[in-house]
Amino acid sequence: MTAQDAATALLREVTGREADGVWSAPGRVNLIGEHTDYNEGFVLPFAIEHRTAAAVARRDDDVIRVMSTFAEEPVQVSLGELDDAIARGGLDWAAYPLGVAWALRRAAPDAETFGVDIAIASDVPVGAGLSSSAAIEGSVASGLNDEWDAGLSRVELARVGRTAENDAVGAPTGIMDQMASMLGVADAATFLDCRTLETDSVELGFRPAGLTLLVMDTNVEHSHATGGYRERRESCEAGAAGLGVSSLRDVTVEDLPHAEQVLDDVTFRRVRHIVTENQRVLDTVWTLRSAGPRTIGELLVASHASMRDDFEISVPELDLAVETALANGAIGARMTGGGFGGAAIALIDDEKTADVGAAVTAAFAASGFTAPTIFTVRPSEGARRDA
Ligand code: ADP
Ligand code: MG
Repeated sequence: MTAQDAATALLREVTGREADGVWSAPGRVNLIGEHTDYNEGFVLPFAIEHRTAAAVARRDDDVIRVMSTFAEEPVQVSLGELDDAIARGGLDWAAYPLGVAWALRRAAPDAETFGVDIAIASDVPVGAGLSSSAAIEGSVASGLNDEWDAGLSRVELARVGRTAENDAVGAPTGIMDQMASMLGVADAATFLDCRTLETDSVELGFRPAGLTLLVMDTNVEHSHATGGYRERRESCEAGAAGLGVSSLRDVTVEDLPHAEQVLDDVTFRRVRHIVTENQRVLDTVWTLRSAGPRTIGELLVASHASMRDDFEISVPELDLAVETALANGAIGARMTGGGFGGAAIALIDDEKTADVGAAVTAAFAASGFTAPTIFTVRPSEGARRDA
């Protein structure tokens, strides 16, 4: 059953009513550009075929009730109490959809808002680094934008999603995931300048080149993710302050020798990752456009090395997945997402994909690691109305 059908069925089961409409938004994989988003740099994510769907039905009162196939109990709040409920916190998963409703009302104060039932279902794996959070935000934001006739653009809806995640959920993330989910185009990646929020679609051409993108989820929980993520952000801020710039976006590869002289070793290496990663994103876009996907392998590999050695956010499972994929013929591979666990990706000739997957699974077993979850993804369309 598709996520759209599951959401419609859940709405019917809980409310006994039919949906006014169904909206969905995808998860995403980041091809390259890690931890650059909050440094006002560049990223190159693409939306995937795994989607979260929101079935929405208007109510005649001012209650927003959210339900998910992931959660036993619906959660409800009246529009009048929404600000207080968000400020109080403790909403658990419901902070995502309710946070979106709250942020959307602030972003579109003139919209005529009314109560709604929202049923959510998803086939985006949660916590695997595929951004199930942006998918739930994008589906609910798209649904409420139409239902409430709020008239926000896709970029504004991405901002609504980020506001929900930052201020209602309390996760200090950048805007990459929401932009990828809102703006995705089939068979293309979204090149995003996180300073200006300008985007450009970049054709990936995996299929015509005979290439498959494999995701290798290590199933390692990002146990240090929150603390480690915050620490890396702080290092980046310290690096920018030490170099007298407002963000590391303003530092180039040519500035690195000077940075090495004025920063302590750890801060310097954090800075070097961001600065070289920004350059690698630009190089990847240029390479894709001029020579196609077969030539981006080295950039992916260099990105992984930088995250492992300079930014220090990899774990042995991610390193093993990348090394094994490369040893078995992958064109390129790297960890993707925030690090400390989660998934790695590999770009592989179609006919070698099964062998690479088997080799990674075998290598994990030989090392005594938890078995990885391995699957392919296709660059797919962004948020949309389905019904
Ligand atoms: P990721 O975005 O990498 O999957 P996050 O921790 O950012 O991981 O977001 C996962 C959280 O988003 C879940 O723990 C849950 O609270 C919420 N979430 C995602 N999808 C759903 C869903 N379909 N139903 C309810 N909550 C969801
Ligand atoms: Mg997330």
